Amino acid sequence: MGHPLSLHGHLKIFTTIDEMRAASRALRGAGKRLGLVPTMGALHEGHLSLVGSARAQCDAVAASIFVNPTQFGPNEDLAKYPRPFERDREMLEREGVELVFAPSVEEMYPAGAVTWVTVEDLCSKLDGRSRPGHFRGVTTVVSKLFHVVEPDVAFFGQKDAAQVAVIRRMVRDLNFAVEIVVCPIVREADGLAMSSRNAYLDAKQRREALVLHRSLMRVEELARAGERDAAKLAAAGRAEFENAEAVRLDYFEIVDAETLDPVADVSDGALVAVAAYVGATRLIDNVVLAPYR
Ligand code: AMP
Repeated sequence: MGHPLSLHGHLKIFTTIDEMRAASRALRGAGKRLGLVPTMGALHEGHLSLVGSARAQCDAVAASIFVNPTQFGPNEDLAKYPRPFERDREMLEREGVELVFAPSVEEMYPAGAVTWVTVEDLCSKLDGRSRPGHFRGVTTVVSKLFHVVEPDVAFFGQKDAAQVAVIRRMVRDLNFAVEIVVCPIVREADGLAMSSRNAYLDAKQRREALVLHRSLMRVEELARAGERDAAKLAAAGRAEFENAEAVRLDYFEIVDAETLDPVADVSDGALVAVAAYVGATRLIDNVVLAPYR
């Protein structure tokens, strides 16, 4: 059990809650502003951009690596989710992360745990509708990470736009003393949003996966050209999927970025969010339309 402690460099790895909390309290006690980057590992440039923002805005950076079982549905990819721990550790060390929290499932969820954090209503919108229980798992584990690490600031990616809305609401509703910073989506050169799950795609699927980004670009282009009707914009986005035979659209929605409720008109800005299965791999992407003036 557990991971070997790093014996070189400045990165320290903690597998227990008590040790992690002691280390972060020591840093904050020394007056340092501490940033937390929560991840499930299998790190890529998207994760590293969050680390970069954390380094720029904080005196010390903690990252967590935890494949959180409670946010996976029974037929999802928990067992096969990639766990390249040594590679992740090296990447974080190179990026100047001081603290890594990498607990076991047993450490995070003691036997008999029955307490959940649920953001009612919002948790069943967008991905929460397709993945029942997903956001309850996310908000519960993020609450626990906030209690363990006690960061001043936590960094999340716009890639998971619904997650951002849910976490912001949780922090507000439960008075967490954590500032939430959201970082832009990092993409591959051809537009595909970076994701740990892109590793599941074969060469053909990798090409077909571009339809997500293409559909969002189409909507953005029409909105820029003056189309304000969300139903027409969404129809144009969905139409891009008609020629993508190996891709099954889960949702394509135009919503308010805070409430995740559909909007009729995009004049005040909107979140355009898409989720689709490329083979068995579920991918998401989104673009934010700026308010029209
Ligand atoms: P995950 O490891 O998938 O749970 O992601 C950890 C954090 O990295 C979340 O806040 C994600 O939104 C963020 N993230 C994942 N992919 C990207 C990306 N392509 N661009 C920006 N942030 C990302």
